[in-house]
Amino acid sequence: MTRAAFLDRDGTIMADVGYPSDPRQVHLVPNAIEGLKLLREHGYALVVVSNQSGIARGMLTLQDAQRVNDEVQRLLTQGGAHVDAFYLCPHRDRDGCDCRKPKPGLIEQAIREHGYAREGSVAIGDRPRDIEAGRAARVKTVRILGGPYAGEGSNNEAGIADYDAVDLLAAAHWITGGVQRAAS
Ligand SMILES: [Mg+2]
Ligand SMILES: [Zn+2]
Repeated sequence: MTRAAFLDRDGTIMADVGYPSDPRQVHLVPNAIEGLKLLREHGYALVVVSNQSGIARGMLTLQDAQRVNDEVQRLLTQGGAHVDAFYLCPHRDRDGCDCRKPKPGLIEQAIREHGYAREGSVAIGDRPRDIEAGRAARVKTVRILGGPYAGEGSNNEAGIADYDAVDLLAAAHWITGGVQRAAS
């Protein structure tokens, strides 16, 4: 069974600009490509799991979100990396869905559809809700502390990651057992 890295998108792979609706808003964060390549070299499937409540809020359409995903994929591919699957939650809190992180629904759906192993898989994100979703899905967790949400604390134990990393490359090093570069 293939292990997977369940990756948050905004603030983890691309800069978090808040409800991006246009491909021109896509800018990869430093070391995103390098981190994804390292995970791939170690056999991880790369799966994006993203909250996109801007869709429920009427700020963008599902098609807009998919175009943004397409641009992420295009830029990654230019750099020699590639995401295997994109999952997104279009809801907001009051919709009470099972897929909006901190719920594990997107990860569970990916596991169901692709048969990924939980053992050895990992959730990576820049906010406590990403970590909570990973814990709820019983996978390892890594928090990226390089972005605007670095100071966001967790309300509960489940939001505290197994490892804090400065960026996706540092995360990938820890996950694959290489050099560890902890966030200061
Ligand atoms: Mg994020
Ligand atoms: Zn949802």
